[in-house]
Amino acid sequence: MALIVQKYGGTSVGSVDRIKNVARRIAKWHRAGHQVVVVVSAMSGETNRLIGLAKEIQASPDPRELDVVASTGEQVTIGLVAMAVQEEGLKAKSYTGPQVHVLTDSAFTKARILEIDEKKIRADLAAGYVVVVAGFQGADEHGNITTLGRGGSDTSAVAMAAALKADECLIYTDVDGVYTTDPRIVPEARRLTTVTFEEMLEMASLGSKVLQIRSVEFAGKYKVRLRVLSSLTGADLPLAEEAQSGTLITFEEDTPMEKAVISGIAFSRDEAKITLTRVPDRPGIAYQILGAIADANIDVDMIVQNISVDGTTDFSFTVHRNEYGKAMQVLQSTVQPVIQARQIIGDPMICKVSVVGIGMRSHVGIASLMFRTLSEEGINIQMITTSEIKISVVVEDKYMELAVRALHKAFGLEQAAA
Ligand code: ADP
Ligand code: ASP
Ligand code: MG
Repeated sequence: MALIVQKYGGTSVGSVDRIKNVARRIAKWHRAGHQVVVVVSAMSGETNRLIGLAKEIQASPDPRELDVVASTGEQVTIGLVAMAVQEEGLKAKSYTGPQVHVLTDSAFTKARILEIDEKKIRADLAAGYVVVVAGFQGADEHGNITTLGRGGSDTSAVAMAAALKADECLIYTDVDGVYTTDPRIVPEARRLTTVTFEEMLEMASLGSKVLQIRSVEFAGKYKVRLRVLSSLTGADLPLAEEAQSGTLITFEEDTPMEKAVISGIAFSRDEAKITLTRVPDRPGIAYQILGAIADANIDVDMIVQNISVDGTTDFSFTVHRNEYGKAMQVLQSTVQPVIQARQIIGDPMICKVSVVGIGMRSHVGIASLMFRTLSEEGINIQMITTSEIKISVVVEDKYMELAVRALHKAFGLEQAAA
C-alpha cells in the first residue's frame, strides 16, 4: 500500500464528465489498496473568469480581496470531485486549503506555503477516506485567504506530498508528460520519459507552464517523487502501466549516461524590456535602479549593463509584462529624478526563448548552433543570458514561434519518424 497524492488540473476537471472520469481513476487507485489524496484546480477558464470579474470592478484589484475571489473556483471542484468519488462507492471528503491549515506568508496573489498540518488528512486516510483538497489556496497567520500564483495547484500538490511524505506525487494534466517543448507550438515535440529536476526547474522558470516552478523547487528540496501524466487518456490501463506512464522527474544521478545534450526548448511570451540610456557609471547605480524596482515588489529577470563610455553606461533589464507599467512608473517617479538617465525606453513586446540541457556542461558549440539558427531565420537577438545548463535570448515577440520551431529542429529534438 502506498500513499499517493494526485493532482488534477483545470482541463482535467473542466466538465462534469471529466470529473466523473477523474473519480473513476481515483477509485481504481483506491481499490488497488492505495491511500489517495487528491488536489484539484478550478475548472478550466474559471480562475480567469473570476479575475476578470474583479477587474471589472477595480482596474488593479485589491490583492487581499482578489485572493478571496480567485480562490473560490477550487472550492467548487473539491466538492464536485468528492461527490463523484462517493458515486464510485467510496468514502470521500473535501477540504479547502485553510481547513487543512495550508499556512502561507501574506504575499497575496503569490503567497508561499510555510507549513501544512497533515494530521486531519492522515486520520481521514486511516479511516478509509479519499481526501480531496483545494489547490492554489491557503491562509496566512491572520486567517486571510491567500493564493499561490497562477498554476499554483501544482505547488499545493507537491507541498502536500512533502508534508505527508507520500510515496509519489502524480500531476495529471491535459498532456501525457513533459515534452521537448510545448506540443501546442511544435506538434513534432517528443515526450521525455525522464527529465532531471535541474532541467525541469530551468524549463519551468523559463516559461514551460506544465509545472509551476515552485512545485519543482519543493519537489527538489523535499525529494518528492514527481511524475507528470495524462488525465485524459489511459483511464482503462492496468494500474501498473499507468503508474509507469508520463514523465518522471529524476535526480541527475539516476539518469542514463547517454542523455541528449539538450532536453528542451522553453519560451516565455509575457516579458517586457526596459533600458535606461546614459546613466552615470558610478558605484550604487544598479542598486538605485533595481532597489526601487524591488521595493515595488516587481521581479526582475535578465539584467545587462554595457561597458562604460564617457563615464556613462546603458542599463537594461526585463520584467513580467504585467508589471511593465508599474516598473516604468517607479523609474519615472523615483529613479529618474536621482540618476538622470538620458532616456528610459521600454518595449513590452519581447519574449524569451531558451535551450535547456544538463549536457551543456560537457559539450561545446551549443551557443553557436543556437545563434546561427536564429541568424539563418533573420531573428535579431536583443539580450543573452546563460547559466551552466541553459542559454536564453530575448527576441521580438512576433518571432517567438519561429524561433522555437527552428531551434527544436536544429537541436534534433523531434520525434523519431514512426
Ligand atoms: P493544468 O491545468 O493541468 O495545470 P496547464 O495548462 O497548466 O495544465 O499545463 C499543461 C500545458 O502545458 C499543456 O497543455 C502544454 O500546452 C503546456 N506546456 C508548455 N510547455 C510544455 C512542455 N515542455 N511539455 C508539456 N506541456 C507543456
Ligand atoms: N486555478 C489556478 C489557476 O488557474 C491554479 C491552477 O490551475 O493550478 O492558475
Ligand atoms: Mg497548471
